[in-house]
Amino acid sequence: MNKKNGKCFILAVANQKGGVGKTTTAINLAAALAEAGKKVVLIDMDPQGNASTGLGVGYDARQGGAYTLLMHEKPAEELLQSTEIEGLSVIAANTELVGAEIELVDADERENRLMSAVQPLTGQMDYIIIDCPPSLSLLTLNALVAANGVLAPLQCEFFALEGLGHLVKTIDRVQKKLNPDLRITGIVLTMYDRRNNLSELVGADARSFFGDDVLETVIPRNIRISEAQSYGQPVMIYDPKASGAASYRALAAEVSKRTA
Ligand code: ADP
Ligand code: MG
Repeated sequence: MNKKNGKCFILAVANQKGGVGKTTTAINLAAALAEAGKKVVLIDMDPQGNASTGLGVGYDARQGGAYTLLMHEKPAEELLQSTEIEGLSVIAANTELVGAEIELVDADERENRLMSAVQPLTGQMDYIIIDCPPSLSLLTLNALVAANGVLAPLQCEFFALEGLGHLVKTIDRVQKKLNPDLRITGIVLTMYDRRNNLSELVGADARSFFGDDVLETVIPRNIRISEAQSYGQPVMIYDPKASGAASYRALAAEVSKRTA
């Protein structure tokens, strides 16, 4: 099946390491793009459902989300939930999603399920943002096959680059076998702390290794960003003037430019 996404860009936010800022980036980038007038859907592909929580979807409202989408049990349009942000909807996740992996073991074209399921959305959305789980599992593979581009958050700490090497290799393999159009949209440095030499060192290393793939925008460590999540809000709603909100707006502008 060929992807004909038209003007819609499908972006997978991926890195097999946990805690690097994938979910935070997926939520706040999606919100910032919507704030800039784009029509955006965030698909939560992590059974932990952190993106659903961060967008205020209650636990009882998570049935019929990403699992139903992946199993082709309902059309994608019926799974969209609106959020506090105009133009941003979400397809939520719950722990059922763990089962999808097992249930799809013998399915035909099991890595193409998400790609075919989201096609009907591409006519009405500018961006589909997929929050991947912290693994290179079948769920992440489905996201990489569906995507036009990958955004990889890189937390500035030891061994960060090593992990990114695995992701780049996986992207190469997916390009060769399953999705020739897949590109790295960018690597974004997250939880950057200007007072910490390690942040600067890892940032410089990333730029010398990955060159222009590393985005200019850097996301600072900002307590308002993590507080916002516990209130089920993107930071631009929770505290529009926070440095974290400004940096995610800048990221949205840079991503828009790269995906135009
Ligand atoms: P992942 O999805 O890669 O596992 P998360 O986005 O859930 O990572 O981030 C891990 C933790 O770090 C969360 O508690 C989140 O609130 C916090 N966090 C992420 N980005 C920032 C930031 N820029 N400033 C402060 N805390 C952050
Ligand atoms: Mg996450």
